[in-house]
Amino acid sequence: MIECINLSKQFDDLVVLKDIYLHIRPQEIVVLLGPSGSGKSTLLRCMNGLEEPTKGSVRVGSVKWDATGNLPSKKQALRDIRTFTGMVFQSFNLFPHMTVLENIIMPPMTVKKMPKAQAIQLAESLLAKVGLQDKMYEHPSRLSGGQQQRVAIARSLAMNPQIMLFDEPTSALDPELTGEVLAVMKQLALEGMTMIVVTHEMKFAREVSNRVIFMSDGVIQEEGTPEQFFDQPQTDRARKFLRQMD
Ligand code: ATP
Ligand code: MG
Repeated sequence: MIECINLSKQFDDLVVLKDIYLHIRPQEIVVLLGPSGSGKSTLLRCMNGLEEPTKGSVRVGSVKWDATGNLPSKKQALRDIRTFTGMVFQSFNLFPHMTVLENIIMPPMTVKKMPKAQAIQLAESLLAKVGLQDKMYEHPSRLSGGQQQRVAIARSLAMNPQIMLFDEPTSALDPELTGEVLAVMKQLALEGMTMIVVTHEMKFAREVSNRVIFMSDGVIQEEGTPEQFFDQPQTDRARKFLRQMD
């Protein structure tokens, strides 16, 4: 679904991703771990076109996203990448002046030209899925952080993405609100959604993921099943990281 081939990303002379090779297959739940500054967010951002590779490429569905992408087709490539991937950030990024319903129907109506009645129907079913049917006409500021993040997930899903990218979706939440967001993500995983999740929630990583990828200094240091990674980390860096997580 997504394939990084020798992907490198540099900001001025800071090399943030170094020759990453990574292949995400349908229905995989991949958890991406690593210390602060190791390049996790940059990797996700390369996968949804928010960053452009400096070297190498990312194949997202049928689109090849690379540094040499010719300009005339770039806009279309980005549109295709953003339709293929849904992304949820730490900060919920809802439109504050719109209701929950308006937040959700806007992307499919503007990008996919979905008729309003159909978009509303879709929004209703997605709000039911994230347990927020009763908040349809509220503005985001009247919701808790956990509720706002669940709306953000519903809004992403409204575009019917093939893969969901989550960048620390619960890091801005009070601990008691984290569970409700993780529960929605777990449900999505059970329904077969392909997901890449950057998180510090080790319990979620262990229970829900099929593969753990540990990055540090812009490279994939090790990867394996959650059992392999958590029970028998192979590198000193991973062991140190896990000790700090305890
Ligand atoms: P965290 O766990 O703190 O979120 P991360 O693993 O997500 O860290 P990134 O955000 O990918 O790390 O950042 C990796 C490195 O790239 C950091 O040193 C960061 O300062 C740098 N970086 C990220 N984005 C930019 C940018 N737009 N311009 C310059 N440097 C950047
Ligand atoms: Mg980050």
